Amino acid sequence: MTDTQFIPNPAPQPTNYLDEQFWENCANKILSFQCCHDCETWRHIPRFMCANCGSPNWGWRESHGRGTVYTWTVCHMPMSPHFEKDFPYAVLVVDMEEGVRITAGLRELDYRELKVGLPVEVIFEPLEGGGYLPFFRPRKEA
Ligand SMILES: [Zn+2]
Repeated sequence: MTDTQFIPNPAPQPTNYLDEQFWENCANKILSFQCCHDCETWRHIPRFMCANCGSPNWGWRESHGRGTVYTWTVCHMPMSPHFEKDFPYAVLVVDMEEGVRITAGLRELDYRELKVGLPVEVIFEPLEGGGYLPFFRPRKEA
């Protein structure tokens, strides 16, 4: 493989109907999380029942897409050839306004400028094979 040949990022592979809808929503550039119909508690990663009240009744709700950086790690060596073009790259854990945490990549900021509590917003990048992946960038609006 030469420097100019990259393998496209792999598409997410849903493991069951719970995360399938999450990725379908991402494919429409919608970040969504599960929300309990009985107690209104948001949750992520997708699960069968509410950790707050035990209810099995839930639905998907669109996120505002805003949060703050809780923590991050920087990958200095690609663990997969799919990501050789990106490294070193930061992977964030973001506290969303809805009260859930999500892991996603950083865009539009040098990882050396990251700070805990940095306001961020979701953006979506297309996958070569179709669909979109969520990433976070510094928030442009209040
Ligand atoms: Zn609940």
